[in-house]
Amino acid sequence: MARDPRYDILFEPMKIGPVTAPNRFYQVPHASGMTNALPRVRAGFREMKAEGGWGVICTGACSIDPSSDDAPLPFATLWDANDMRAHELMTEAVHRHGALAGVELWHGGASVMNRQSRLPPISPSGIPWMATHVGFMGNLRPRIMDKSDIRQVLDWQREGARKARSAGFDVVYVYAGMGYLGYEFLLPEYNHRTDEYGGCIENRVRFVREMIEVTKEAVGKDCGVALRVSLEELRGRPGRNQPSEAHELVELLADVPDLFDVKMDSSPTDCSASRFTGEGSHEPVIDFVKRMTRKPVVGVGRFTSPDTMVSQIRRGVLDFIGGARPSIADPFLPAKIREGRVEEIRECIGCNICISSWHDGVPVRCTQNPTAGEEWRRGWHPEKVPQAKERQKVLVIGAGPAGLEAALTLGRAGHEVTLADKGRAFGGRLSFERTLPGLAAWGRVVDYRLGRLNEMANVSLYLESEMGVDEAMDLAPDHVLIATGARWTPMLYSPMEIPVGRLDHPTIFTPDDIAAGRMPSGPTLVFDYDNYYYGGVMSEHLARAGVPVHYATPAGHASAWTIMTNELPLVAKALTARQIETTTLHCLTSFDGETAVLSHIFTGEKKHVSCRSVLITGLRLPDSRLADAFAAREADWREAGIRSVTAIGDALAPGAIAHAVHSGHLHARNLGNPGAAQSFRRDTPITDRIEGFAFSAAAE
Ligand code: ADP
Ligand code: SF4
Repeated sequence: MARDPRYDILFEPMKIGPVTAPNRFYQVPHASGMTNALPRVRAGFREMKAEGGWGVICTGACSIDPSSDDAPLPFATLWDANDMRAHELMTEAVHRHGALAGVELWHGGASVMNRQSRLPPISPSGIPWMATHVGFMGNLRPRIMDKSDIRQVLDWQREGARKARSAGFDVVYVYAGMGYLGYEFLLPEYNHRTDEYGGCIENRVRFVREMIEVTKEAVGKDCGVALRVSLEELRGRPGRNQPSEAHELVELLADVPDLFDVKMDSSPTDCSASRFTGEGSHEPVIDFVKRMTRKPVVGVGRFTSPDTMVSQIRRGVLDFIGGARPSIADPFLPAKIREGRVEEIRECIGCNICISSWHDGVPVRCTQNPTAGEEWRRGWHPEKVPQAKERQKVLVIGAGPAGLEAALTLGRAGHEVTLADKGRAFGGRLSFERTLPGLAAWGRVVDYRLGRLNEMANVSLYLESEMGVDEAMDLAPDHVLIATGARWTPMLYSPMEIPVGRLDHPTIFTPDDIAAGRMPSGPTLVFDYDNYYYGGVMSEHLARAGVPVHYATPAGHASAWTIMTNELPLVAKALTARQIETTTLHCLTSFDGETAVLSHIFTGEKKHVSCRSVLITGLRLPDSRLADAFAAREADWREAGIRSVTAIGDALAPGAIAHAVHSGHLHARNLGNPGAAQSFRRDTPITDRIEGFAFSAAAE
C-alpha cells in the first residue's frame, strides 16, 4: 500500500553536524538492561529497530570512567578495548540497515553509588542526589570536584568520544540530564561553587559547554555531537534576560552542539505511564527550544500516531521524532508508516514494564512486543514467524492477552487456528481492565491483535463459546492451548508472609466480583497485597462510582511495586485527589461486616476501620478447571487424535499482562513441544583482550 503523502515529511533525510540521518525517526538513548555483558542480545535488540526503519539508533547510558558506576542498575561501559568491540557489534548491525548509531556517553556524578568500583562519587559541591527508595539508596556521599577533577572528566569525555568513533558510532552524546553530573553543574542546588563553574547561569553552563567542546575537538569532523539535557526544572526558574533559565541555557549553547535532545528531569515525568499522562506530554516544557537554535531538536512523548508526529514537526516543536517506548513496542513503526500500514502499528500502551526491567536489572521486557530482547537469544522477529513445516489444527481456548497472542503467532506460522472464548468480547481480563481509570490505552493489546487476526483467512474467532473437553474434541484439533486465565482469591497472609487462609464474609469482594458488575455498597476497605496497579486502580474505580474507600497494604507505600514502573508518586497523588485514606504497613486480620481490624506488621498494634465491605486484591490462582478436566481425560483426547494440551498465560502461572503475552508467543512458537521453551542461546561478554591482565597474577 502507498504511503499517505501527509507523512512524507517524516521520511526526509536530516543532517546532524557532519552525518545525515535517513529520516526523522530517532530512537533516543534508552536503557536496555543488557549492558556489555550481553553484547549480542543488545546488538540484536538495537538492530531490529534499524531494520524496522528507525533512522538513528542510540545506546543507553554508557559510562566513560569507573567513577561512574550505577550498579546494581544495569549500565554499559566504554572503558577499554573489550567494551569497544562489544559496541562494534551494535554499530555494525545498525549500519547494515542504513541507520546512524549514537552513543550516550555518561557520567553519573553524585547520583551513582559506585558500588562496584568503590571509588567516591564526584560532584560539583558534594551534594548527594536524593534517593528515597531501597535499591536506589546508598550511604556513600560524593566528594567535591576540584579543577583537576573537572579537567579529568573532560579528558574522559574526550577519550570516550574517540573510543566511540573507533567503535563505529556516528552520533556522540554529552549528557546533562536526569540528576547526572552535567545536570548537577546546571542546578544551583547541587552547584554551590564560587569559581567560574558556579553562580550565574553562564558559569553553571560552562562545564557542559566544555564537555561539548572537547567532544567536538575529538570527533566533530566525523560524528554529530548531541547534547541531551533535562529542562523541566530550569524551565520553572525565571531567567535574567529570558522567560526561564532553560531559555537562557539554550541561548548560551545555541550553536555549540549539532543536536539538542531535550527531556524531563526525573524518570516519573520523563517516562510517565499512560495511566497518568498522554502522548506528547513534554511539549509544554520543551516547546521553546527550536525557536532559540538553528540546530535540530529531538524530543519524546510516547509518539505512536503519525499525525501527532507530523504536527510536532509542522508546528515547529521538534525536528526528529524521538522514541524509546514506541520503538520497543514496535521496532517496525517507521516501516509501517512508510508502507501505508499505519493500522498495523503495535502501539505502546504506556504500562512501563520496560522501564521496570531496568529497575529490576534485567534485559528489557515489553507487554506489547514479546520478541523484545529475544531477537538474538531465541531468534524471534517481531513481524515474521517461520512458516510451519506441517500445518496443524490448533484450538486456543480463551481470548485474553495470552490466547490472542498465541492465536496471532500460530496464524502467522500458517496453522489453522480456532480461537474460542466464553465471553461476549475478546480481551479476557482486559475487557474490564481497559475501562478502569487511566487504563484505556491498555486496550491496544487487544485491538492490535484482533485487528490482525480479523485479516487472517486461516483463523476463526468465536465468542460466547464455552469450551469443555467434549466441545474441544468435537472440533478435532491437533493441539489445544488453554488460555483460561486466573481468578482472584480472598486469601490472606500473616506478617511473616505465611498464608493464613481465606477471610469469608458475604461482603468480601475480589476484583472478579467487581469485573462481573457486583459493586460494594457503603464504605469499603481495599486491602492490597498484590502491590502492583490493581489495588490502586480498584480504589480509584470504586471512589469514582461514589463508594467511600480506605486503602490498606502491608507494604510501605500504596501500590508499592509501581515504583518499578515510575507510577508510585502519581498513584499517591491520584488516591489523595479522590480522598482515599491510605494505611500502610498493616495486615488485615478480621472483618465482621462493620469493622475491619488491621494490625501493624512490626508492632502488632491494632487499627479499626469502619466499613461495610472489603475488597481484597491479593493472590491470583490459575483458573485450572479446564486444564484439570483435560488432565482427567487424557486417554479420551489422545484417542480422539489430539496430540498436545498445554496451559499458557495466567492459566499456567498468573502474572502481569506482559507475562501472558510472552507465554502465548512462546508456546505458539514451540507448538506441541513446550519443553523447547526452556532453551535459548546464552550470551557472553567479550573478554578476549584484557589489557594488563597476566594469568600468573590471576592464579595467585
Ligand atoms: P490471560 O491473561 O492468560 O490471557 P485472561 O484472564 O485475560 O487470561 O483471559 C482468559 C479468557 O479465557 C477469558 O476471556 C475467559 O472468558 C476465557 N475462558 C475461560 N474459561 C473458558 C472456557 N472454558 N471456554 C472458553 N473461554 C474460556
Ligand atoms: Fe510500551 Fe509497555 Fe512495551 Fe514499555 S512495556 S514499550 S510502556 S508497551
